[in-house]
Amino acid sequence: MADDAGRPEAHSSPTPCCKVGRVIERYDLPSMDERLASRWVGRDGERVGLRDLASFLNRAVLRAAMQEAGLDPLDGEVGDIYARLENDGPTDRMRIRARSKLERAGIEVEALTRDFVSHPTVGNHLKECLSVDPPRPDATDKVEKAKERVFKLQSRTESVVRSSIEYLRDTGRLQAGEFDVFVTTRVTCERCGTQYDVHDFLRREGCDCEADP
Ligand SMILES: [Zn+2]
Ligand SMILES: [Zn+2]
Repeated sequence: MADDAGRPEAHSSPTPCCKVGRVIERYDLPSMDERLASRWVGRDGERVGLRDLASFLNRAVLRAAMQEAGLDPLDGEVGDIYARLENDGPTDRMRIRARSKLERAGIEVEALTRDFVSHPTVGNHLKECLSVDPPRPDATDKVEKAKERVFKLQSRTESVVRSSIEYLRDTGRLQAGEFDVFVTTRVTCERCGTQYDVHDFLRREGCDCEADP
């Protein structure tokens, strides 16, 4: 690999830690470890999840490959092409077009996409190779968990109600045709009397009236 950028010899570590380390070295992304780690733990604000980190890294790889091939991609263009390479769904034609643009510039697309990393690989790299402590779950995760618990409880209630009615119907104890069961849970704010669906209440993080000083 050409390495005539005049950098100090510090780069001569012979065995990269894992695929992420290998890719960072191959595409010469020196500050990448630092950027991945600080985004992951949310050092400068919002935490970024592993999936988004993987695509952040992969877009940097794609950009480096394009620059190396003499293309001068805009940010949006890199994201666009990346999305097309990753997408094997209905927009096949767009994907082929993106690939052939890269191939015309002399990029080996197969090799390039093999260098893309998955989100578990990024997670291992952060945890095992860089010894970054996983971020602690924040309030948002707790809200998500609560929503999930409420949702599960509602579905369980619905299915108990449904099977009870079906049992009574099938044993001739009540008359019913097709029916549907829908459970809602209401939360009332005692301060102002407003009623909410529980999911609404969780989503808006409580009643508006509590927000006033
Ligand atoms: Zn690693
Ligand atoms: Zn209220």
